[in-house]
Amino acid sequence: MRSSIISVLSVMTVVVAAGLAGCSNDASVAPGNTEVAAAPESAAPENAATGISAAGDAGQWVSSGHDYSEQRYSPLSQITPDNISQLGLAWFGDLAERGGSYETTPVVVDGRIYVTSPWSKVYAFDAKTGVQLWKYDPKVPGEWAVNLCCGIVNRGVAVWENKVIFGTLDGRLVAVNAENGERVWEVQATDRSKQLSITGAPRIANGRIYIGEAGSEFHQRGYLAAYDANDGKELWRWWAVPGDPALGFEQPELEMAAATWKGEWWKTGGGGTPWDGILYDPVTDLVIIGTGNGAPWPAEVRSPGGGDNLFTASIVALDANTGEYRWHYQATPQDSWDFDNTQQLVTADLVFNGEQKHVVMQAPKNGVFYVIEAATGKVLSADLYVPTANWMTGFDENFRPILNPDANYGAFGDRGFHVVPSAGGAHSWHPMAFNPNTGLMYIPTNYSSFPLVAEAGAKMGNQLLSINVGKRPQDPAPVLEGAGSYLLAWDPVKKESVWEQRQGGSRSGVLATAGNLVFQGTAEQTFSAFRADTGDKVWTTPTQAGIVGGAASYEIDGEQYIAVVAGQAGRGGYWAPNYARLLVFKQGGTATLPEAVSFTPPVLNPPADFGDAALLAQGETHYNEHCASCHGNSGRVSSLFPDLRYAAALNSPELFKAIVIDGVLQNNGMVSFKESLTPEEADAIRAYVVSLANIEKNAPPPAPPAAPLAAPAPAPAPTAGATQTAQPEVHKD
Ligand code: CA
Repeated sequence: MRSSIISVLSVMTVVVAAGLAGCSNDASVAPGNTEVAAAPESAAPENAATGISAAGDAGQWVSSGHDYSEQRYSPLSQITPDNISQLGLAWFGDLAERGGSYETTPVVVDGRIYVTSPWSKVYAFDAKTGVQLWKYDPKVPGEWAVNLCCGIVNRGVAVWENKVIFGTLDGRLVAVNAENGERVWEVQATDRSKQLSITGAPRIANGRIYIGEAGSEFHQRGYLAAYDANDGKELWRWWAVPGDPALGFEQPELEMAAATWKGEWWKTGGGGTPWDGILYDPVTDLVIIGTGNGAPWPAEVRSPGGGDNLFTASIVALDANTGEYRWHYQATPQDSWDFDNTQQLVTADLVFNGEQKHVVMQAPKNGVFYVIEAATGKVLSADLYVPTANWMTGFDENFRPILNPDANYGAFGDRGFHVVPSAGGAHSWHPMAFNPNTGLMYIPTNYSSFPLVAEAGAKMGNQLLSINVGKRPQDPAPVLEGAGSYLLAWDPVKKESVWEQRQGGSRSGVLATAGNLVFQGTAEQTFSAFRADTGDKVWTTPTQAGIVGGAASYEIDGEQYIAVVAGQAGRGGYWAPNYARLLVFKQGGTATLPEAVSFTPPVLNPPADFGDAALLAQGETHYNEHCASCHGNSGRVSSLFPDLRYAAALNSPELFKAIVIDGVLQNNGMVSFKESLTPEEADAIRAYVVSLANIEKNAPPPAPPAAPLAAPAPAPAPTAGATQTAQPEVHKD
């Protein structure tokens, strides 16, 4: 016994050195929640109590979308295509968290810049000098990762009257003091017994915080709620889908919604979680939100026999004061394709059909660009912004999509369906930007298909989707002319594409500035600028880490700055060094990033295969259910956690058990699974991972450095107009 413990501990040293950890959230930050740096001279602005002004503030970036219009357009014009060659790094701030995705857009108020990191932690920096002022850790438990569909992420903060307010993965809303990062209040905004999380940035207006949650993929029932910015007290809650009619309806319009559902939908939640797109419109005093997909995914499983399933996959307007329903437009009735309608909502005043209109615009996953009158919900236009879509065949006179009967794959057993655009969306969460001078919307766009085969009760990884990921549709995937990922400039008035830039892409947010520029993270580890009018690339810089979030622009002492977070590890995944940083650029900036260090990825060293087919199948099932949300699986879920095929513990049944069942790496974030797995089931997982490791080891040629188990290989940039079979996009929230 004693010798076995010693051998376990000695092997553990190797394992820890090799980085075998679960969803670690860097629990080493202790004691207390806030780290405060010595205040630099420029850290005490005079107007520290400033909140968001209705029109925004030209020199600041006061909310994640810049201002209430959410245009992500900076009126600053110092940096232009003619002088951008002078743009250089002003400063950078290191960000410590690993194993997630940096989806934050920086917020800049009163000389301080705030960003979030994957575990819902918040950093504050001096926006001019780059000195880190404080860091707040809400201490989200690492094991919460099993409740997430789409990564360990946070998309940013809101600032209101000297408070920085943000959501956490485990469903809390937290307010901290903007000057020193000390907690002011905290509330649990979700039912903690349910698989609900907050990943989006809160929006705030007139002292009210608006936030929704993610969780449709776990059979949840979505809602949007308002909270008092002073103390976090919930003011109202609007449910996106009806619950059990026998229990009565919380809102009168839910009775209307219930008539669009069949069967016992409430037993699987229904979905509709409004996890990102939230807009407060001061012109109409409405909160306009986008709701998530229906859940489980196939409409025929969720609501047998049909029905539109209101208010899933919809744009909904609520009274900002009371939360009362005002109008809705359902973009995707009877959604079966993970067509969240949660993408960013943007308001603008456009001359539309000869008349000035205050409109809200959206480019959701279903591939249609919508222009809607903000006050009434009247659809002014709905046009495909990707070349084709096959879930519908057109619109009726009221802009209701005419569904393609062949797309209702839930009714067709194993026949399945390849949906276009993909379930990952023609445009996912990555922020788009609108330039009122060019009149163009700049959209991170993807044109591809996604295979779907329904099976009631089947899981995708840990998610309850009723999709059998082991099956493919009987028909081959469609060949799509012009498939791939690109930055699209879309004219919402002329309803046409103005340019497409294949050096931009679908997986990074966009910033537009008055200097006729559009900024976006590009390729694997670069940040670039394009001319807003033509799309020509005019500037690029290496960032050592990939960029997925949106950039911000602000001005201090007469100088314009561009700020963006780079945080995605490149080739080598979890094993690669961490270069997650807030990068801030200005004209004549002379800072340089430290030279990237070389690293040696671990070597595959699995034992021989063991176990029969039944054991491997059992191991695969348990892996997908319990491991995949952190460690990834079969290309469906991205992961920056250790690729378990490289784990030294594969060679030791007792060490593997000590980690998975006994929780000996708990302090690394790899919690015990003894409540949900038996030791025999844990060893079935080991057998499955060993089989994967041997497949990889024997695959010619070996491909160092090791790619993470789940990370899809970076796709080469396709050439314009290329014809290719599209790769499925990873779905999102
Ligand atoms: Ca979804």
